[in-house]
Amino acid sequence: RIVYVYGQFVPEEEARIGLFDRGFLFGDAVYEVTAVIGGRMIDNDLHLDRLERSLRELAIPLGLSRKEIAGVQAELIARNALRDGTIYLQVSRGEADRDFLYSDALAPRFVGFTQAKTLTGTKAQQDGISVDLADDPRWHRRDIKTAMLLGQVMAKQAARARGFDDVWLVENGLVTEGASSTAHVITGDGRILTRAASRATLPGCTQRALALLCAAEDLAIEERAFTPNEAQAAAEAFQTSASSLVMPVVRIGDRVVGNGKPGPMTRKLQALYLEAAGVPV
Ligand code: PLP
Repeated sequence: RIVYVYGQFVPEEEARIGLFDRGFLFGDAVYEVTAVIGGRMIDNDLHLDRLERSLRELAIPLGLSRKEIAGVQAELIARNALRDGTIYLQVSRGEADRDFLYSDALAPRFVGFTQAKTLTGTKAQQDGISVDLADDPRWHRRDIKTAMLLGQVMAKQAARARGFDDVWLVENGLVTEGASSTAHVITGDGRILTRAASRATLPGCTQRALALLCAAEDLAIEERAFTPNEAQAAAEAFQTSASSLVMPVVRIGDRVVGNGKPGPMTRKLQALYLEAAGVPV
């Protein structure tokens, strides 16, 4: 792979990042993941909006225009001849001798790389996945997409050890979100529910794009938090993210959702999303 490190495109074996990079020492960095399907970036404007917001919230002055950032992404796609997969971008606050406090004068460190991967028509997308339920172990600013992901790593790993494909996190008796996705359920009377934006969750770009597509189809996504019990009793369930798109969830904890197969509404939403992304369905 050709990767992007501090302004240069280099083979991954030659990439070097600094020992004193605050992203490495403190997780003091933000990131974004954009899906690439057929060589095209999906919902990238939403991802760049969110990257700018994350940077602003942490007062990291990247100093690059959106056009320049998108230029790096386009170059990564071209240099790696990427058809299907993801582009990862990360901006750390910069390098300085280890100290919790930082100076405003640090130069942010911008890196990026691609990951080739089939995103559509996978077995998981056809058959659905199982998710465990676990206490949300994360901090209180989950609206910022930081590289500080140990809570998600631990939760996903524990879910996998318990035989689940993924995990939905729970706080104060309500589902917050998936460990790396936005959680949705569809009630028996056909209402699509997802949690409203707040500091408790990351505002999902795939969720947002899907909500806009639904609105155009006169299908409303209702912004309301739901309990683990409501999720388990739902007619259908699914999660969204840039790397899993619209992913059916057919088992939640010890309960099968609906008849254990992706439901008709979920299928419709999958098709709607893929059609908008220009994928033949
Ligand atoms: N919530 C969390 C915690 C995530 O890590 C992600 C994506 O990685 C999402 C939600 C979904 O966001 P998006 O649809 O923008 O990928």
